[in-house]
Formats: sequence, C-alpha cells, structure tokens
Amino acid sequence: MKAGRAKARIAPEALPAHASAVYSILASLYPDAHCELDHQGAWQLLVATILSAQCTDRRVNMVTPRLFETWPTPPDLAAAPQEEVEDVIRTTGFFRNKARNLIAMAGALVDRHHGRVPDTLDDLVQLPGVGRKTANVILGNALGINAGVVVDTHVQRLAARLGLTRETDPVKIEQDLMALFPQESWTMLSHLLIWHGRRVCHARRPRCTDCALAVLCPSAGLV
Ligand code: SF4
Repeated sequence: MKAGRAKARIAPEALPAHASAVYSILASLYPDAHCELDHQGAWQLLVATILSAQCTDRRVNMVTPRLFETWPTPPDLAAAPQEEVEDVIRTTGFFRNKARNLIAMAGALVDRHHGRVPDTLDDLVQLPGVGRKTANVILGNALGINAGVVVDTHVQRLAARLGLTRETDPVKIEQDLMALFPQESWTMLSHLLIWHGRRVCHARRPRCTDCALAVLCPSAGLV
C-alpha cells in the first residue's frame, strides 16, 4: 500500500485519543512551528499567501520584500500597472493570474473594506484569489482567529497517512480535523503537520524509520 493513498484506519472510538497523541508528539518535536511566509501583518500575509499557490514559501519570501517596498499598501497595489507586478512576481509561477488577482484583491479591499483586511471567513473568501485555505491562513496567523484548519497538500497527505481522515476532498478533511482537535489548536495543528511533512513524512519517501510518530502511525513502513 502506498502511504500517500493510505487506507490507514483507526477504530472510531480510538480516534480522539489517537489524535491527541499525534498532536502531543508533534508539538514536542516542533515547539516553534509557525507560518514560514515572511510577513508583517494581515495585508502582507494575504499577498504572500496568494503568491504561494503552486510555489514554495522560500521562493515567495524572495520576491515579497521588493513587492512590499514598491507597493506597500492596498491603494498602492490597486493602482499598480499589471506588467510591473508581473515582473516582480514572475518567479513564483502563474504570474499573470497572480498579478491580476493581487491587483483586484487590493482594489476590493479599498472599495469594500476601507483598505483593511476583513476578519471573517465570509468576507475574505469574497476577495479575488482568496479561497477557504488562504482565508484560514490569514485568520489563524495574522488575526489570531481559529476559524478552520488550513488543508494544504502536506496536511492532506499526513492526515490520511496518520488515519485522521478517510476523506480526499480538502473541505471534508478539514471538517474531520475540526471535529477531532480542539478549536484553539487548529492553527498550530496545520503548522505541525506541514512541518512534519516537509521534514520527515515526505510525499515520495517518508522517513518512517526516523519518525517519532511511527509507534502510532497506521501507515508506518507501508510505503
Ligand atoms: S511513520 Fe511517520 S513518516 Fe511514516 S507515514 Fe507515518 S507519519 Fe509519515
């Protein structure tokens, strides 16, 4: 069985204790886990998160200093020429689409929210280029609001391997995780899963023999 498509199963009655044990081990491994997109405040994190689609955080962090220096506020970016924004963000991939979304998103902040980043999921997902995942990143990391769990490719993979969900749709995975973990831990939960996914539980070759979760992971050694 491939761990990436694991049918990992934990008995339903054992799931809460299993989830709690997974969280404890990960929290002790990565006490400083945090969002790895460099930012100051919700506006910068919103821009960086839109840029991070299909791109590494490291590469985003290489372009955002110039972007924020050239267009520091929503009104600045809303008035920016698209070609100039494209030039700055080109290396992050899908740069035409991202530039269009960034400019439109900044314009929507100016038009609808007095140039401020809104603090509700409903308002955030109305912004161009912003889906539920991005909205959860902003709420959890810049505004201190645990409204949901960020389900990216790492969270999706690890939740399946660890038997925390049998779903494949990100929205349903998020619902499973929200039901299993206390709300105050939702933002940190996604950091912990992402950090472990980047360092140990890789997509292609998970390092099960070095993994502190192997004692309780139903996918350990099944790759
Ligand atoms: S034992 Fe660790 S590395 Fe292996 S599948 Fe489970 S979580 Fe991933």
